[in-house]
Amino acid sequence: MMVQYQKIKDQYPDAFLFYRLGDFYELFNDDAIKGSQLLELTLTNRSRNAENPVPMCGVPHKAAQNYIDILVDQGYKVAICEQMEDPRLTKGMVKRAVIQLVTPGTQVDVGSQNAKSNNYLTAVTYDQDNRAFGFSYADLSTGELKVAKLDTQAELINELVSLQTKETVVGSRFPKTILETIQKLGILISHQEALPINASVSYLSQDVDKEPLKQVVKMLLDYIQTTQKRSLQHLKRAVVYEPSDFLELDHNSQYNLELTRNIRTGKKGGTLLWLLDQTKTAMGGRKLKQWIERPLVNKSKISERQDAVGVLLDHYYERSQLQDELIKVYDLERLAGRIAFGSVNGRDLIQLKTSLQQVPKIKYILEQIADNSFKDMLKDLIPLDDIVDEISRSIIEQPPISVTDGGVIKDGFDDQLDKYRDASNNGQKWLAELEAKERQVTGINNLKVGFNHVFGYYIEVTKVNLNKMPENRYQRKQTLANAERFSTPELKEKEALILEAQEQSKTLEYKLFVRIRDDIKKSIKRIQALADAVASIDVLQSFANVSEEYRFIRPTLTNDHRVKVIDGRHPVVEKVLGHQQYVPNNVDMGEDTSVLLITGPNMSGKSTYMRQMALCVIMNQMGCFVPAKKATLPVFDKIFTRIGAADDLISGQSTFMVEMKEANDAIENATPNSLILFDEIGRGTATYDGMALAQAIIEYVHNNIGAKTLFSTHYHELTSLDESLKQLQNVHVGATESNGELVFLHKIQPGPADKSYGIHVAKLAGLPNGLLKRANHILTDLEKKDDQPDKINATPSKQNHDERVKTKQAGEEEQQISLFPMEQIDDNQEEVVAQLKNL
Ligand code: ADP
Repeated sequence: MMVQYQKIKDQYPDAFLFYRLGDFYELFNDDAIKGSQLLELTLTNRSRNAENPVPMCGVPHKAAQNYIDILVDQGYKVAICEQMEDPRLTKGMVKRAVIQLVTPGTQVDVGSQNAKSNNYLTAVTYDQDNRAFGFSYADLSTGELKVAKLDTQAELINELVSLQTKETVVGSRFPKTILETIQKLGILISHQEALPINASVSYLSQDVDKEPLKQVVKMLLDYIQTTQKRSLQHLKRAVVYEPSDFLELDHNSQYNLELTRNIRTGKKGGTLLWLLDQTKTAMGGRKLKQWIERPLVNKSKISERQDAVGVLLDHYYERSQLQDELIKVYDLERLAGRIAFGSVNGRDLIQLKTSLQQVPKIKYILEQIADNSFKDMLKDLIPLDDIVDEISRSIIEQPPISVTDGGVIKDGFDDQLDKYRDASNNGQKWLAELEAKERQVTGINNLKVGFNHVFGYYIEVTKVNLNKMPENRYQRKQTLANAERFSTPELKEKEALILEAQEQSKTLEYKLFVRIRDDIKKSIKRIQALADAVASIDVLQSFANVSEEYRFIRPTLTNDHRVKVIDGRHPVVEKVLGHQQYVPNNVDMGEDTSVLLITGPNMSGKSTYMRQMALCVIMNQMGCFVPAKKATLPVFDKIFTRIGAADDLISGQSTFMVEMKEANDAIENATPNSLILFDEIGRGTATYDGMALAQAIIEYVHNNIGAKTLFSTHYHELTSLDESLKQLQNVHVGATESNGELVFLHKIQPGPADKSYGIHVAKLAGLPNGLLKRANHILTDLEKKDDQPDKINATPSKQNHDERVKTKQAGEEEQQISLFPMEQIDDNQEEVVAQLKNL
């Protein structure tokens, strides 16, 4: 057996091999050692006395799914090795083979907590000549299959991050350096070599005309075929997409704007998705997530969605009716997947029926209220009455989970099945009569006729009554602690008949079930189209609901470059703070304004203001309404953000390096139709450096790109740029003092911020007067001694004077400014200074 085991294991060196042995899956050797730790199983040895014992652990096959999920969730692969023959009928070794390789990207039985997200398996090829990537992705549970050509590594990373893929398939010649970058994102890399072309692969990639794209789809499908070893029938034909069909969000924006993942927790809470999700179905939940990750750039498509939201918003009653119907719709996409895989059970089919039964009602409601807004969805909303009818006739309302133990098919569906059932039922009746008869004959009132799997049917008599049993009439079968079990020839004969009828009825039921399942399989494409329409309707009603609840409004879309948002809000911060607490703000950037320079103290709300703008744009282009009183927006093509000091996920570079790379990314790729958000660019380096770079970046964006840019800074000196840059506007976030407390107004106001802010804050914080005087003194000193401003046309910020001192101590040529001029220090302090210097 171990020879057989090893042969199979050698083919799956990077997976845990679950080796079926009777009722268990066993793991051996290193798999067992590692597996026992990860799964908290007891580690034993296969042959305890041998010199080289084989480490082993195992899980019951009925509970295996749980254990497989645990391993796969942690990024491992599991090869499931089954017995391919009935051990009772086989002499010698039972044949075994791996029937499926479960991997993070191909896992389909995702738990209910993941119902609202997709599990995407991705594949990448690299085209050396054109320096471009072929990129394809699929969700095995829903059948989605897409392919694109990506021109840069940044685009590739954006796609991988936005799809949140756990596994990427590559060929053996894929460039190592890029591979390492992908791995740093925590993505599992799998290798796949080309297989001979097969029919389903050619069919699925039929609409892909370019050769490199065909290749990457084929590689992905080959990998699915190799690991899953089963039907690809539910996969949809590959759809070619262009990243430019959607609003491009660099991976930083996706991350920093907390669209679907909270930066701190990595979960959904506190994200835009969390706020917008009032979907009623799992499919709707997934579609919403896709729409957030891929907002549109086509104005008329955006308007279409917003039309539909408007209609639903205006029809409160119909909307709530619609929700009542949607709630009864199960996950049709994943049901379709399970039908294709052949893993549906009776309960799944009842779910399918219930879901399909809602379709005519949903259709009716929409027809009542909708003008043209739902025409695409209504087209796909075709009730599948034939399937509903077939399931209604065949499957009982509350079937068991198992499809092989009977009790799934309705009476009256199949004549032969009814006959077997009659035979079995008659048998049951006969047994009841037998019990009554035997009680009478023996006079034992608690005599019982019963059944167990080992001994079959028996007559049971308690020990105290044994003396009442007539001799010779009964054969002893089994002895219990206080009872004896008997049989009679008559009972034996009946038992054979009953068991056979039951066995045959189970076999027949399974056959019928498979036939029904295969029948439905033919309609998979129709079910998928329907699911897609239902999902879109669900997202749109969710948009209408949140728009009502949070007072979002429909923006006006323009073809020019005007941005005007009146009383805009950051919807998530507003929800968390409460409506009363949130201070709404305007964004007013006409055709002649490209840069908004935002100044104001820390914590005043600069980055919230910028995020608010980005979310407003994203929500608009998803087709949702936006959190404002009034809004006029153009359609943006890309958003770039540099917000916060997020660690670099990909290369572990210093914050400043990352900051510069991202600035570069924006500068290289932004167009006049893009939105750029730069939050305190340049603060990661010395004051002069940082300020110089900040100014140069602003000038470059202003003069060469013309993208709408929000730039927050604490370099107050930059505010004088409005003199030379005509399209730059200064705004600041106000703050005030009340009863000795510093109060942030969070209100964006025209013009630059008050200059003396840092020391003002220090005063409010209660620092001693003497110290504040001294700070003012140093400040004046710094300003006087400054000989750099000519070069960069600005003076350093007061808030950063300490940083500046530090830089100079590091040995720069600038004049040393001491924080502790010796003439002012008395004896006592001298001691302290000495100690500090020591430190
Ligand atoms: P900055 O970028 O200026 O340091 P933030 O944008 O991070 O400041 O805002 C700091 C805090 O101020 C936020 O966490 C939020 O609680 C609050 N805040 C920001 N903007 C507003 C607003 N418009 N209304 C109410 N509170 C706000």
